[in-house]
Amino acid sequence: MIDIERDYTAQNRQDDCSRDKQVRYFELVEKRKQCGQCKDLKLTNPSKCDEGVYDIQGHIGPWTQWQGNLNADLMIVGQDWGSKGYYIENEGVEKDTNATNRTIRELLSSIDIQIALPNLAQRESAVFFTNSILCLRPGNGLTGPTPPASSFDNCSKSFLRPQIELVNPKVVVTLGHKAYSSADDCSSRGDHPSGGSHMPHSSLSSGPLRFTDTLNSRAKEGLATGEACP
Ligand SMILES: [Zn+2]
Repeated sequence: MIDIERDYTAQNRQDDCSRDKQVRYFELVEKRKQCGQCKDLKLTNPSKCDEGVYDIQGHIGPWTQWQGNLNADLMIVGQDWGSKGYYIENEGVEKDTNATNRTIRELLSSIDIQIALPNLAQRESAVFFTNSILCLRPGNGLTGPTPPASSFDNCSKSFLRPQIELVNPKVVVTLGHKAYSSADDCSSRGDHPSGGSHMPHSSLSSGPLRFTDTLNSRAKEGLATGEACP
């Protein structure tokens, strides 16, 4: 009986924690929707793209809409999602044929994490995907000039750090140097945002090649032990 009560209390505490995370996440999503910091840099907040018609899923960004598990052990941070033209053309959802996403699925599968294609319905997501820049670049397609440095500052300072603190993953994997710098900058900042929770001990690794290595060995190790990699 006592065990049942203890289990019940533990379950309640877990439910409260999940509810609290959801509330804080939705507050962050609303803050992102209102953000205009990158407007003068010719980047577009998805909430301002075609009057926000595709920004209605309640997620921090279009990549998180695909994988947005707030309790994930693994967080993957990309540089930016793509252009405004690509976003409109695909109605705010990734293409299933996108080469980066195909590779990520294969790499995740190599460490026994299976995720569905972006356009397939899924009951729940296994990991948390996000971008260091949440705004959309001008133009069409996925490639183009790197967004200006200040956009990394704007989006990462306001949104990446709170996401890492909220999800509190065991491992953060970044794709490319810019995403790595943004995440690293977040983890080394001395100032704590309001709420004051500390940075999780996540292992940080970057670059497409090291990304492969990371998912095959270091991330697997980090996910198993929860310890930061050297
Ligand atoms: Zn921005």
